[in-house]
Amino acid sequence: MVIYYGVCTAILGLIFGSFLNCTAMRIVRGEDFVKGRSHCMSCGHELGAADLVPLFSYLVHRGRCRYCGDKISVRYPLTELTFMLLSLGLYVAIIGFGGLTLPAILLFFKCWFLTGCLFVLSLTDLEIFEIPDGTLIAGAISWVIFTILELILGIHGIMWVLHHVLAGLLVGGLMLLISLIMDKVLKKDSLGGGDIKLFALLGLYLGYAGSYELVLLSCVMGLVFAGARKALFAEASREFPFGPSIALSGYLLLIFGDMITDWYLGLFMY
Ligand SMILES: [Zn+2]
Repeated sequence: MVIYYGVCTAILGLIFGSFLNCTAMRIVRGEDFVKGRSHCMSCGHELGAADLVPLFSYLVHRGRCRYCGDKISVRYPLTELTFMLLSLGLYVAIIGFGGLTLPAILLFFKCWFLTGCLFVLSLTDLEIFEIPDGTLIAGAISWVIFTILELILGIHGIMWVLHHVLAGLLVGGLMLLISLIMDKVLKKDSLGGGDIKLFALLGLYLGYAGSYELVLLSCVMGLVFAGARKALFAEASREFPFGPSIALSGYLLLIFGDMITDWYLGLFMY
């Protein structure tokens, strides 16, 4: 049963990943992403249902447009595959270890929607150094809806909710303070407003311990990415997208957060 739903998750991950990639591309191009049919980027031919099967239509047509034969960007299968793996990671961590229970299923979808928002904002931040407010608002609304469901079902109490809201405010406020100090010291913009709001959103999901780990992990991740970027692309722009580092850290903490906290607290037990 767990394997059967795992396969479903993989397929859903491909479909959702394809949708998220298109959403990110439409945000970057300033298009309306609710309306409008998908079309080939070269010849403009509208794509039918058969052309929109994630991954498979790319493989079947060997990465070329069925109408004009032009190469289709490898970005499509790559993002679909990446989001499928991210979905499976959540599934294994939450359903695989927690079992097919109602709290675990709710938690899975809560984290899955958040991961979708993180995925879109990482793509736009990489491309145009912008974290769209819409992705952050969607993530916050999703948290509210799922948390209300969890409250009704008695999975969490009101104190849990208050502590998580406070964690979001604290980590957001802390990063705002740090960025203001850094702006003064470095005499240039350090953290973007989107980065700070993203920290606050993730604090809402992760709570105190998770937020603390988030700040540390994203700084390490940011340094690694910045170093790798400099080594790989000599002519990379001076502006550095920090969003993907924060997003990836947040995702990893959704999966490994409790494990890391237990290990960390265990260090002080002896
Ligand atoms: Zn075409």
